[in-house]
Amino acid sequence: MEFLKGEISMLKASVQELQQHATPLYVYNLDLLRQTLQKAKQEANKYNYHVHYALKANANEPILAEMLQAGLGADCVSGNEVKRAIENGFKPENVVFAGVGKSDSEINYALDQDIFCFNCESSHELIVLNELAEQKNKKARIALRINPNVNANTHKYITTGLEENKFGINAWELQDVVALLKTLPNLELIGIHFHIGSQITDLSVFKNLCTRVNEFQEWFVAQNIQLEHINVGGGLGVDYYNPEQQLIPDFEAYFGLFNQFLELRPGQQVHFELGRSLVAQCGTLVSKVLYIKKGMTTNFAILDAGMTELIRPALYQSYHKIENLTSEAAEERYDVVGPICESSDCFGKAVMLPETNRGDLIAIHTAGAYGEVMASGYNLREKATAIYLN
Ligand SMILES: *Cc1c(COP(=O)(O)O)cnc(C)c1O
Repeated sequence: MEFLKGEISMLKASVQELQQHATPLYVYNLDLLRQTLQKAKQEANKYNYHVHYALKANANEPILAEMLQAGLGADCVSGNEVKRAIENGFKPENVVFAGVGKSDSEINYALDQDIFCFNCESSHELIVLNELAEQKNKKARIALRINPNVNANTHKYITTGLEENKFGINAWELQDVVALLKTLPNLELIGIHFHIGSQITDLSVFKNLCTRVNEFQEWFVAQNIQLEHINVGGGLGVDYYNPEQQLIPDFEAYFGLFNQFLELRPGQQVHFELGRSLVAQCGTLVSKVLYIKKGMTTNFAILDAGMTELIRPALYQSYHKIENLTSEAAEERYDVVGPICESSDCFGKAVMLPETNRGDLIAIHTAGAYGEVMASGYNLREKATAIYLN
């Protein structure tokens, strides 16, 4: 843990190595990732909980290898994610597939692979999945993704469990969906699924989720329907403001809360789908300063990385801690921006940094989740490379 506290000093110590690489550069600390996974597993194992890794947070192969090594399953939201998981060694029986808009070819691929479960989000999807399964003479295992109408108290773009969101089946539709299922012989209902949002730092939100899940469970019992699996999704947040103070999220409190508030029937299995909380802190976007430009109120530090490498600030107005790895001079105020032709291409406003010059290396922390996976080629940018420190 000594080493963990020194995440930033480790980056500083690696400056010579970093300088040998072209920037922008994604830098992943696999040692931190392993320690994070170990802690998550240790806490989940206390209650026999199953954890799936949400590939959409970061699907790089060396990262997936660690997830597999740690014994996690895979949570996928596209056919290509299912493919990536299986090609990287995840067993189909540990793969689940969610998403509001699964295409026929994605469904067919997942059916051919005999994945563990389709998390279905509408009655129309159930009808199509049943048809496609019938054509293959298969029975697809499904969970109903239910929209529990629980507010995640997070950014509106990453809130998914409110009735106004497109995700999941609403409570008032359940009766019809259950009636429909009786007419769809190629589907087997094995559980219910929930995922209410991401970057959730207020744990009472998960307590509210448990309360809703308990209510839904009672409803299913009243319908005489047995559920083997309860999947409560992911969403646990990380500390973007002070990453070094909490490099590993509080998995003890998180899993402990579900243990305390989720009411299970005998033999029921609980599944989690964690993305961000497993990988966010192990990744840093390293960029070089191209220019310093005087502005009206602050100076601009213009980086060679932009929203094409990390879109979270532009998309969700999210905060990332920014540091200068190569200057120790007195601090000044900068707007830290990228080169892309969009005013939203800004990593941070009024950031205090040691006096910064052309060629300095800048670290943008907590970029391991929803960073590289969201990279784009806008402005015909090249894909940045990734390196892995052990
Ligand atoms: C994105 C997503 C997750 C992972 O969310 P995190 O906030 O990264 O933990 C889990 N389940 C589903 C269905 C998702 O779409």
